[in-house]
Amino acid sequence: MGEQITQAQDLLRSLPGVDRLLQMPVTELLAEQYGRSLTLAALRYSLDNRRQAILAGNGREPDADSLVQEARTWLENLLAPTLRPIINATGVIVHTNLGRAPLSRSALTAVQSAGGGYATLEFDLDSGKRGSRAVHAENLLIRLTGAEAATAVNNNAAAVLLMLTALCSGREVIISRGQLVEIGGGFRIPDVMAQSGARMVEVGTTNRTHLHDYERAVTENTAAILVVHHSNYKIIGFTTEPPLADLADLACRHNILLLYDQGSGALLDTAPYGLEPEPTVLDGLQAGCDVVCFSGDKLLGGSQAGILCGRGGLIGQIKRHPLARAVRADKMALAALSATLAQYLTDRALVDIPVWRMIARPLPEIEAEANQWAARLQEEGVAARVIDGRSTVGGGSLPGTSLPTRLVAVEQADVESLAAALRGHSLPVIGRIQDDLFLVDPRTVLPEQAEALLTALVRYA
Ligand SMILES: *Cc1c(COP(=O)(O)O)cnc(C)c1O
Repeated sequence: MGEQITQAQDLLRSLPGVDRLLQMPVTELLAEQYGRSLTLAALRYSLDNRRQAILAGNGREPDADSLVQEARTWLENLLAPTLRPIINATGVIVHTNLGRAPLSRSALTAVQSAGGGYATLEFDLDSGKRGSRAVHAENLLIRLTGAEAATAVNNNAAAVLLMLTALCSGREVIISRGQLVEIGGGFRIPDVMAQSGARMVEVGTTNRTHLHDYERAVTENTAAILVVHHSNYKIIGFTTEPPLADLADLACRHNILLLYDQGSGALLDTAPYGLEPEPTVLDGLQAGCDVVCFSGDKLLGGSQAGILCGRGGLIGQIKRHPLARAVRADKMALAALSATLAQYLTDRALVDIPVWRMIARPLPEIEAEANQWAARLQEEGVAARVIDGRSTVGGGSLPGTSLPTRLVAVEQADVESLAAALRGHSLPVIGRIQDDLFLVDPRTVLPEQAEALLTALVRYA
């Protein structure tokens, strides 16, 4: 016992001091790469670690090289990016956990030029005076939707909050009990309503709400009817909800507003691709909604943003509210959004916007790619074959509907380990597991990532 204590004390005494470690040439290189103070912190961490180990009886002869190596590992781990690119082979097109919509090339170029230098964010080149950041996406949005006015904020959650706060605070807002939804990430309509200062008046039942339910709830204190699109859930069976046009008529008769949280930002019809029809932004405006709000990075396929379109006076009120400043969109989001909107205006959406290219991709093309991948994997000795499957839109849109696809199925004794190894790859691959098969959907794999995907599968399968 006594001998052990002396041994530990000897080991502790022989630990080099920070000063000595700092003078080593290898440490100087570290300090050049990571900065002096962070390197110092890393060395202290490494020495501390060794001290604890010695006191716990696990000490070994401390050598300076291994102490510095430990410091280097600590520095590398600390600074390793946590937001890393991955390959989405799940077949979920707008995958909320994987960053929703991938940006188009022209959106990326716009982000780079707006973010990498100075830009006319709030500057008017004609007058040489201060301009408004509001102008950037607005004209394109107005042109695209036919709305009188439009504005973009940080995300759609902010758009809903801002709309209710600016237009309904202190007054009543009527909403169907079938629409008191949680969107995900803790965004719950009743909570947002409370936060906005509006008083929520629930009408109808979970499955059925009629026009007369709304009509009976109107008082002299009513500011608006809010309609929230069933983005991420479906009520089937004995259900009814009045059409937007009937609600618009009712709102008009009672001189109250009809506000519509459309959610997905679909500007194109989803039906031609075999999906259920998703109400579009235009449907909402044409039905007579006063303000329609939606996300920029779901089916719109652009950057994170919340977009509000509608009547000029109301959008003006929304833009002037103090909260608007707190939820404004940044220059890179505005740049990407404008570039994406321009693609719709020039009929390039189906070709150039990744989300729509994936939705519209013909099945024979997916099948050809799946066959090619499977053949290549088989050549490399991987047990792979092509099977039928379904891709989904995701992002809390179009629940319960999917697109036919062809999957590459990799057979593996321990499919969970394969999935884990692929997640641990330098460019991680995320797929699906089903019936002991690892499934890869070509629909959501970006063309430039296909080669890396196959290389990873060959390596780990
Ligand atoms: C997604 C969604 C939101 C939240 O939008 P974010 O852009 O994620 O903030 C709000 N309402 C509906 C109906 C949605 O689908």
